[in-house]
Amino acid sequence: EEDLLQCEGCGIELQTDDPSRLGYVPEQALLKVPVICQRCYRIKHYNEISSVTPNQDDFLKMLSHVGETNSLVIHIVDLFDFEGSLISGLQRFVGNNPILLVVNKMDLLPKVTNWNRILNWIRKQAKESGLKVVDVVLCSAKKNIGFDRLLEKLGEYRKGRDVYVVGATNAGKSTLINRLIRDYSDLESELTTSQYPGTTLDLVRIPLDDGKSIIDTPGIVYSYRLTELVPKPVLPVLLPDKTIKPAVYQLNEKQTLFIGGFARFDFAKGPRQSFTCFFSNSLPVHRTKLERADELYNNHRGELLKPPTKEQLEQIPPLAKHPVSIRKGQQSDVLISGLGWIKINSPEGAELVIHAPKGVKIVVRDSLI
Ligand code: GDP
Repeated sequence: EEDLLQCEGCGIELQTDDPSRLGYVPEQALLKVPVICQRCYRIKHYNEISSVTPNQDDFLKMLSHVGETNSLVIHIVDLFDFEGSLISGLQRFVGNNPILLVVNKMDLLPKVTNWNRILNWIRKQAKESGLKVVDVVLCSAKKNIGFDRLLEKLGEYRKGRDVYVVGATNAGKSTLINRLIRDYSDLESELTTSQYPGTTLDLVRIPLDDGKSIIDTPGIVYSYRLTELVPKPVLPVLLPDKTIKPAVYQLNEKQTLFIGGFARFDFAKGPRQSFTCFFSNSLPVHRTKLERADELYNNHRGELLKPPTKEQLEQIPPLAKHPVSIRKGQQSDVLISGLGWIKINSPEGAELVIHAPKGVKIVVRDSLI
């Protein structure tokens, strides 16, 4: 039996086998003194926090634990996948603690966007999903937009308490926390990690100068988001890093749009009208006749219809159909969670069929913009 080494940073049992699991340390780093896990190494040297993947049970236990504390909860959601990244039921778990909703990635919408309208839209959607928030802040963690507002609100609602940051994976939690470490924490003190009682989750405490902390919690994985279902190398094409250029298509009924080879949008029935696509600029949209769509997909996916490549496609669930009716006079979006959305500017109504990898959540909502 080998001696079990522990990380001198967080105390976790070290292992050299699996970089995606906690306690990982590259073999050659074992020779260094002090021995610390790769996660602590990154925090220490780069002020960088890497996400770990908890199981749902542990995540819920951790959330209930937050409910027993007296703290401010920051819930970070992704503006690009709002419904996919919102933690429904968060309210139930965090008890009476106030929730500050931080909506990230505002840089993806055009600068000329009516932000007040967006804020109202967010408040309404949050309310409808049962989330009572003290306030909503829009920001871009990556482009450093909206942080003055965020720090102001933190000061206003924190009232000398700890801050728990919760969110779904890929919402930008690490990027946000890293920015908070730079702008807001007490850099003289050490970052520490500890474990939630009764779970295998570990969390990172970022000290504030009043002795309280910002606590980073592991991101929750929602398997109904396309971003969680694809192989890792595909992620950069799904996650836009530049302002999205909406593309407008005038379609007649019985026309189809392919979004790369990831999804398909059939306009089955309705008068000629326009559809606006909000997807990453690196995803080409291909228009065809509905009657040709099956054949095109069967013969040209991974080639004309890409990304993803043929090899990547083998690791993504097959397409499943979702019929959608858009009522007369409604301005709606059809969101394909993790991929983007199509706005239907429908004065007359439309019958649609969405084809998306099996398991991906499809949401029809009031249009965002
Ligand atoms: P986490 O899983 O919630 O910790 O998310 P990360 O911080 O790792 O970010 C996930 C992805 O979103 C990365 O590709 C980031 O570069 C990207 N990202 C984070 N914040 C923003 C933002 O404000 N705007 C844009 N466009 N991308 C962002």
